[in-house]
Amino acid sequence: MQRSAIFHADFKSMPYWWEAYRPTAEDPLDLPRRVRVAIVGGGYAGLSTALELAKQGIDAVVLEAKELGFGASTRNGGGVSGGVNIGKSFSGRTIPVEPARVDALLSDGADAFSTIERLIAEENIACFWNRTGRFVGAWTPKHYRSQEARLAKLNEAAQSGAYMLPRERQREEIASDYYYGGMVVERSANLHPALYYKGLLDAVRRRDTPVCARAPVTRISPHDRGWSVATERGEIEADEVVIATNGYTGDVTPQLKRRLVPLASHIIATEELPEDLARSLIPKRRTLADTRRVLCYYRMSPDGRRMIFGGRARFTQVGPETSAPILHRFMTDRFPQLRDAKVTHAWTGNVAFTLDALPHMGRQDGMHYLMGCNGSGVAMMTYLGTQTARKIAGIANYHCSFDAPEFPDHPLYSGNPWFLPAIGGWYRLLDRVDRIASK
Ligand SMILES: Cc1cc2nc3c(=O)[nH]c(=O)nc-3n(C[C@H](O)[C@H](O)[C@H](O)COP(=O)(O)OP(=O)(O)OC[C@H]3O[C@@H](n4cnc5c(N)ncnc54)[C@H](O)[C@@H]3O)c2cc1C
Repeated sequence: MQRSAIFHADFKSMPYWWEAYRPTAEDPLDLPRRVRVAIVGGGYAGLSTALELAKQGIDAVVLEAKELGFGASTRNGGGVSGGVNIGKSFSGRTIPVEPARVDALLSDGADAFSTIERLIAEENIACFWNRTGRFVGAWTPKHYRSQEARLAKLNEAAQSGAYMLPRERQREEIASDYYYGGMVVERSANLHPALYYKGLLDAVRRRDTPVCARAPVTRISPHDRGWSVATERGEIEADEVVIATNGYTGDVTPQLKRRLVPLASHIIATEELPEDLARSLIPKRRTLADTRRVLCYYRMSPDGRRMIFGGRARFTQVGPETSAPILHRFMTDRFPQLRDAKVTHAWTGNVAFTLDALPHMGRQDGMHYLMGCNGSGVAMMTYLGTQTARKIAGIANYHCSFDAPEFPDHPLYSGNPWFLPAIGGWYRLLDRVDRIASK
């Protein structure tokens, strides 16, 4: 197939999810002059912080630089993991975590899943929440064995309902022989990310908390009564500031920017597939991912008719003319039966990796922050937002394990990830070598 032939005649360079909710800046609100809490960034993290603050009777404002939902929160794959990939860095390498922390991190990761599930039910958010589970395909037999070694811990500390599926039974999960078996994790789900975003936004607005679009924060200055937060649309006085900018963290908070590596992730959606074909690809409608360094993640659309296929086609932002053919190839490597499926949508967004590959909340120079989703932030950022708000309200009755005093940086890294293209190529090569060596 020629490169250009993969694009559908009605191709759009935007997230498929935006057909249902498109980030908006209509009717931008006037900024309040004074609030208890100013929240910078209007994704899941900012909105869930605002929602919990409102429930605790604390007034806040959410300041979003662009349209509401501009960031990763309406661009992701919508896979909701029931735990946390402890220390799994973007190189696929596992960064050691002190053994004493592992159980607490896994248990709080599991709590993140309960938090989002409860929130969606309580706020009545129609976002195609489906507790379908996940299948993580092993790229090599060695990966299968290391998944197996983690199984007991996942089930013990995070009640993941995980089990191994050998290669002979793999077709129960996927119409492909691409992997060497893999791990099923029953306690995970998928949703429509932009409708979940819209539901959170509606819930915050119902509590009369202003969510202001096109209000980029340009400077944050402390003074003896709190903070002055300058935006392009005026200045706000606040007692507390929360930074919820994740993969879009910029120069307003350089001390946080240098602790994050913003990596691009790309997704395509196919045209509607013939019904029988669509039904056969992922029979249990789970979310899928794999154990490669340069991983892919995929699922069917909520109506079951399209393949939504994501991965790190490149580690940096590139246009659909580059990313879509690569992802289409990754997709047909797994599903040769999709070779004629045309791409209707292609898009990209930033994922924030941390140097210890763990999500973080805490305080830096007096400001609260929550960030570093490491590619799994739908449940996690909702959870950290809720935890941050409870901490501010003084009602947190236990210490969240992601609230660690240490948020690592590196003396040679100041927030400019110039090295990503080279690293992306190197990891793709290592993946190939691993696979060839395993045969
Ligand atoms: C392509 C892709 C696929 C993904 N797939 C999955 C998945 O399947 N499952 C999963 O769990 N996670 C996934 N993720 C990760 C998940 O989407 C994120 O972890 C989550 O959305 C982060 O939410 P957030 O609110 O922290 O950040 P965001 O939603 O990115 O919001 C941050 C906001 O801050 C704003 N901002 C930045 N600077 C300023 C400023 N100075 N002033 C005001 N506002 C500012 C930005 O405009 C942005 O809107 C994926 C991410 C991407 C990009």
